[in-house]
Amino acid sequence: MSTIKSISILGATGSVGASTVDLVRRNPDRFAIKALTANSNVNALAALAREFSAEVAVIADETLYSDLKEALAGTAVTALCGTEGLIAAAEVSCDLVMAAIVGAAGLRPTLAAVRQGKTIALANKECLVCAGELFMQEAEKSGARILPVDSEHNAIYQVFDFERATTVEKIILTASGGPFWQKRTDCLKNVTPAEAVAHPNWDMGQKISVDSATMMNKGLEVIEAFHLFPVQKDQIEVVIHPQSVIHSMVQYNDGSVLAQLGSPDMRTPIAYALAWPDRIDAPVPSLSLPELAQLTFAEPDLEKFECLKLAMDALHEGGSAPLALNAANEVAVEAFLKEKIGFMDISSVVKATLDKIDMKAPHSLSNVFEQDQEARLIAQNLLTQLAA
Ligand code: NDP
Repeated sequence: MSTIKSISILGATGSVGASTVDLVRRNPDRFAIKALTANSNVNALAALAREFSAEVAVIADETLYSDLKEALAGTAVTALCGTEGLIAAAEVSCDLVMAAIVGAAGLRPTLAAVRQGKTIALANKECLVCAGELFMQEAEKSGARILPVDSEHNAIYQVFDFERATTVEKIILTASGGPFWQKRTDCLKNVTPAEAVAHPNWDMGQKISVDSATMMNKGLEVIEAFHLFPVQKDQIEVVIHPQSVIHSMVQYNDGSVLAQLGSPDMRTPIAYALAWPDRIDAPVPSLSLPELAQLTFAEPDLEKFECLKLAMDALHEGGSAPLALNAANEVAVEAFLKEKIGFMDISSVVKATLDKIDMKAPHSLSNVFEQDQEARLIAQNLLTQLAA
């Protein structure tokens, strides 16, 4: 029997994708890549497909399809494009799908893999934020195993006693606080995209880096945690931990608090998900507690980081609130990165969008996308008003 795990990487050219590829490259006797996808980065995608002799390479942007075919000329790699192509990459026969597309765009292909009962290494938190109930119901129906890649959820997964879930009092998500947690609120108005994406501990894609700076990322993670673990909404707590060494904790009824620690390098949770239930070497600096000397903690400031509060409120509100929160945030972060709005406008756009939407829970996947589009339109209109 072959011991090589075959993998499809959705979002192979991104930050999580690159770390996944790095681990595969270092472990050629354990992993092989079957399929790879990107949005627009044809050259990087084609180079990876050639390097790993992938069966399928998919470019989401259909206008770049001929470029991809040209870049793969003379190889046996099948080039595909668009949403159908992404779904084909998710459905390719393989042992594990790494879901690392950024944003709600990751939902359709990841759900396609879930419906086939595959093992999913889930980095794309937006799947659970936008369609958590539907997604987990489908996973239950098909028997798909979801292995969380987000470092906090991966930490919780490693220390959560699923057999005795009722003994869990709470889960504690740690947050670095991003680059601005100690800045005064009045200094945040004029921060630039370059300052916002300069995360003190983690090297990540642009969108999630801005989300870390606004702390929306932690809010999205609270929603993600609610869907991944059998806990109630009020059993999820957030604590600032600027060193990003404790990746999260689970507190039990006897007072024990179990934590997973490690250097802040995504290759640890990715290695865990790729090798599960085994473990493999990961090229991360080992943790030296004496060198660290101190691990510190603080309460998050929900007035300064309104995005975190909006996300926690959206989880409690339920219905379409988490989905609309995510859609408005994606629109606002993109506008901020293009310097069309200021940093503090991100939370204003999200809040104003949430004030305008109908909170009815989506009843189907197509309804998720309808509501997502509706929220995006509202957020776009708000941006136009802000610019006027
Ligand atoms: P990046 O922006 O670095 O990469 C995103 C990937 O998705 C790229 O391959 C990109 O292709 C592709 N992509 C972008 N838009 C689309 C689209 N519309 N359709 C299809 N593919 C698309 O993101 P990250 O790697 O930082 O994050 C990926 C996911 O993982 C996010 O959900 C994030 O929240 C989560 N995550 C990330 C962590 C990190 O450390 N980066 C940590 C924990 C979770 P192209 O290169 O062509 O643009």
